[in-house]
Amino acid sequence: MNRLFRAEGIVLKSIKLNEADKIVTIFSDDHGKIKAIAKGVRKTKSQFGSSMENLTINRLLLYRGKNMNTISQSEIVNSFFSQSKDLFRYGLAIHCAEIVDKLTVEEDHNKRLYNLFKNLLLLLRDEQNPVLLTESFKWKLFTLLGYKPELERCIHCHSIFNKEGHYIFDITKGGISCFSCQKNAGYYQIKMSNYLLKLLQRIQDADLKKIHNKKIDEPILNELGKIADIYLKYHFEIENQSKHFLNRLKLFK
Ligand SMILES: [Zn+2]
Repeated sequence: MNRLFRAEGIVLKSIKLNEADKIVTIFSDDHGKIKAIAKGVRKTKSQFGSSMENLTINRLLLYRGKNMNTISQSEIVNSFFSQSKDLFRYGLAIHCAEIVDKLTVEEDHNKRLYNLFKNLLLLLRDEQNPVLLTESFKWKLFTLLGYKPELERCIHCHSIFNKEGHYIFDITKGGISCFSCQKNAGYYQIKMSNYLLKLLQRIQDADLKKIHNKKIDEPILNELGKIADIYLKYHFEIENQSKHFLNRLKLFK
């Protein structure tokens, strides 16, 4: 059995193992999430250079050990860390890396998710509306993980939405309900305007790089983010630590 394997991967996070080494968590194209030891990475003259910094995209050669993989070689394809001078954008990218880490299991490959995450990092540097891009990423991620919300028809009476008005997004049922089917809104049943519903439909259908609607008001973006976060909490039982950090950063924007 050949124990060496190649992958392209994005560094999600790393933890210190000892004075010289780190355990790095990487989300890769063909092998899904991988944990691997980067030997000597903490030394000043390490062969890895800055390739093991968070969010760096690398071409990797890895060795599959009995208990743990080891990184033999790395070559930087793209480095978000060195190119993003913008702390807020960096925070948004870390926020998404945390979500990818929490929603994936080791060695369960999902190439479409890899491509989506890679595209997000590449677009995030220059995108004029980085918050819209990040929120769009989350909604697309739900779809790729099999939690696509129903946005075309009422989840109860199955009528197609074509009228102007307000709807209720029922987080627990994963979709939109018309007002005649569900009149009461609670914590998990959120009122949604026709405008927000249209925006969500567009996000679901369009490619990430085509979502360039730069004139979306901040309250709409906040609403989009709020619903995504409750969706994450309810369906995946996760709450992002980095979200609190981001909220603090917003104050200094
Ligand atoms: Zn209905």
